[in-house]
Amino acid sequence: MSHPWDRIELQQGDITKLNCDAIVNAANSSLLGGGGVDGAIHRVAGPDLLEECRTLGGCATGEAKLTRGYKLPCRWIVHTVGPVYKDGKRGEPEHLKSCYQSSLNLAVENKIRSLAFPAISCGVYGYPIEDAARIALSTTAAFLADHEEVDLVIFVLFGAADMATYLGVRDELTAGS
Ligand code: ADP
Repeated sequence: MSHPWDRIELQQGDITKLNCDAIVNAANSSLLGGGGVDGAIHRVAGPDLLEECRTLGGCATGEAKLTRGYKLPCRWIVHTVGPVYKDGKRGEPEHLKSCYQSSLNLAVENKIRSLAFPAISCGVYGYPIEDAARIALSTTAAFLADHEEVDLVIFVLFGAADMATYLGVRDELTAGS
């Protein structure tokens, strides 16, 4: 099996353009659309996505639900609900970690082999990007070490500053390995 870090890529760009098996949406608990990456995904996927989301009954923080991708290039969308960041002492790290684990588990259950994540909770929900990157990358690397079924996880960062932060955290986590 290849090393987990060889199956993790960082990219700057718009996640709605990604042509992998699934992209992950940083949704809110209603699953009925919102701003940021959620708004972008619904705009590109089209109204049929909202129709399917209405049947799901929402989603708790840290959990994940699957829909089809509709007009997106990807086949599936994993909707996960990140924590709203207050002071980091209200379960935010555990909830954020759970978003990555739940999304990756859902991928394995549905034979999704390539999946792209945005920086969950790092927009309107206010999670500090460096702390969030550390959780995103370490949780994913640990998961991939146990799951050879997933070939590739791409972290898609919208801005150059977020990309630089993720690159720095990856270097820190892989130093000496
Ligand atoms: P949350 O409510 O979980 O904070 P947001 O959508 O506000 O979610 O932001 C999450 C992250 O997604 C932010 O870092 C934001 O810059 C980024 N983002 C927004 N639009 C896109 C997009 N089209 N592709 C990739 N990332 C995006």
